[in-house]
Amino acid sequence: MALPRLLARGLAWPGCGRALHRATSASAPAAPDFNSFVTRTNTCGELRSAHVGQEVTLYGWIQYQRQGLFLVLRDFQGLTQIIIPQDEAHSHVKKLLSDAPVESVVRVTGIVSLRPPGQENLKMSTGDIEVKVETAEILNSCKKLPFEIKDFIKKTEALRMRYRYLDLRSFQLQYNLRLRSQIVMRMREYLCNLHGFVDVETPTLFKRTPGGAKEFLVPSREAGKFYSLPQSPQQFKQLLMVGGLDRYFQVARCYRDEGSRPDRQPEFTQIDIEMSFVDQAGIQRLIEGLLQYSWPEERGSITTPFPSMTYEEALADYGTDKPDTRFGMKIVDIGDFLRRSDIQFVQNALSYPHGTVKAICIPQGVRYLKNKDLESLKESAKSQFNQEIMEIICRPDGSLKSLLTKFLGEKQQSELIQALNMQVDDLVLLAAGEYKQVCSALGSLRLESADILEAAGLVLRDPTVFHFLWVVDFPLFLPKGENPTELESAHHPFTAPHPSDTSLLYSDPTKVRSQHYDLVLNGNEVGGGSIRIHRAEQQRFVLEKVLKEDSEVLSHLLEALEFGAPPHGGIALGLDRLISLIVDAPSIRDVIAFPKSFKGRDLMGSAPDYVTPEELEPYHIQVSWPLAEKEAKNPLT
Ligand code: ASP
Repeated sequence: MALPRLLARGLAWPGCGRALHRATSASAPAAPDFNSFVTRTNTCGELRSAHVGQEVTLYGWIQYQRQGLFLVLRDFQGLTQIIIPQDEAHSHVKKLLSDAPVESVVRVTGIVSLRPPGQENLKMSTGDIEVKVETAEILNSCKKLPFEIKDFIKKTEALRMRYRYLDLRSFQLQYNLRLRSQIVMRMREYLCNLHGFVDVETPTLFKRTPGGAKEFLVPSREAGKFYSLPQSPQQFKQLLMVGGLDRYFQVARCYRDEGSRPDRQPEFTQIDIEMSFVDQAGIQRLIEGLLQYSWPEERGSITTPFPSMTYEEALADYGTDKPDTRFGMKIVDIGDFLRRSDIQFVQNALSYPHGTVKAICIPQGVRYLKNKDLESLKESAKSQFNQEIMEIICRPDGSLKSLLTKFLGEKQQSELIQALNMQVDDLVLLAAGEYKQVCSALGSLRLESADILEAAGLVLRDPTVFHFLWVVDFPLFLPKGENPTELESAHHPFTAPHPSDTSLLYSDPTKVRSQHYDLVLNGNEVGGGSIRIHRAEQQRFVLEKVLKEDSEVLSHLLEALEFGAPPHGGIALGLDRLISLIVDAPSIRDVIAFPKSFKGRDLMGSAPDYVTPEELEPYHIQVSWPLAEKEAKNPLT
């Protein structure tokens, strides 16, 4: 998490006023007036030696109070030291402030003074001054806290979520949400003011759409009929292009009922974009400009254009369609070197049409990976990918140690060393088998090994470095996971085929590449989009003949494409994921004000919740209780 770096610049609220003012790049507007419309004169992060002698009124929470002598007052912008008066005339102020529990919210009025020499706090942006209180008021006292509002105090995530409003008082969450707001503001500026996009809100009560993620259903008063919460505004944004809006964007709420999946949220936010008369390169340049414009200055700068890699290259070299290009350890094809060997499992693998032999080389793996690490890597390849792994190590004298070496001549061994660029103490993990399975297993081991190396103290993936990458030329269709003889869209069914593969759509759809592009940041997919099919007959063919979907559910879209629909394309950026990477948060929950738990629950308000049978009646719904719940006491009866 970014916190340690931020903490390094100060105490709990390290110069945060400054950080938040200057969070965005290039020609940032003047700092906003935080004191308009309210009776405070200043925020708690604002006072400097230039204010000495002024009478000020501050509002904030008591962060800390010491022996009735002083306290530290906190608001969203920083901390100010408040000196509690000790003289008789102010005895009631002293009592009030000394008795107030921490996190009580107070108003203080007093005079700004310089701190006595030697007592300045260089780590606090207000560290040169203190405020000598004249009057004070406890606006609301705080009962015993479930946890301390300090970033370095460890608390369980369930407790943080149960008291989210308290967790929001922490520096880190304040910082994350404010930075998110500034980035979105800059995105709006770039899209609307600089490039003429129109911010259009689209419905969130809609109908079920074929393919893609599972949607949440919302009951309606018409018996048996349900709305769906859209997984994205995909259809609406395309219909806006048919409607001549030309350039659309929306900070769009999307819903996916995907059950418990790590670091996913059932509702999340996309920066959703669609343009008419655009091609893939046009969308890519737009997104590069957008990110560059809205990139926070304190996170360094990003260079454009972003590099690009085909899906095939990504799979071959990194074993995934979202490669983390911050470090090497690429997958190397060693089939040619081993083809002439007598190794049975290698020969078996290579005899199949999609057979391959590949490996990754973990630099200094022998020194940093323990036996149990190696075992757990092998176990993980076996359990996740059903893939056996064999290891080769490079001894101090440069020779190879492995079960395979006795089958390899000296020449083959040195060819292998060269191909894998092996050095003393390097560890090679080798896999033979079906191409996709081998690549995926090695891709996953590459990341797991990087975790192990980093846990041992090496830095492979510097969190301050941002590697953006376009992945392009995806296949238009992929075999369905549960039934590989059927096809599903690699992106979604509205994606257009690659112009040079269009005729293959009708002869061999499995070979068609698409005009789908994904944006990857440090190994995470942060965006995806495509140029769309804009002709009804091609869209109907894809839905009915290739995907075997009932095109009737999409008849409105198919019909719209018949009324002069312009060529169009778009993209959506996953805002939560993007911000979490920018602030180096361990989870997307850390950049969402009120996130759901891993199981999709709101732990603060206890949603989802039961409703009474009477409330369900207008929707023609009856709950058929699972036995366990029937036997347990139903909270509503
Ligand atoms: N609607 C797509 C998604 O949510 C993005 C796009 O194709 O524009 O992934």
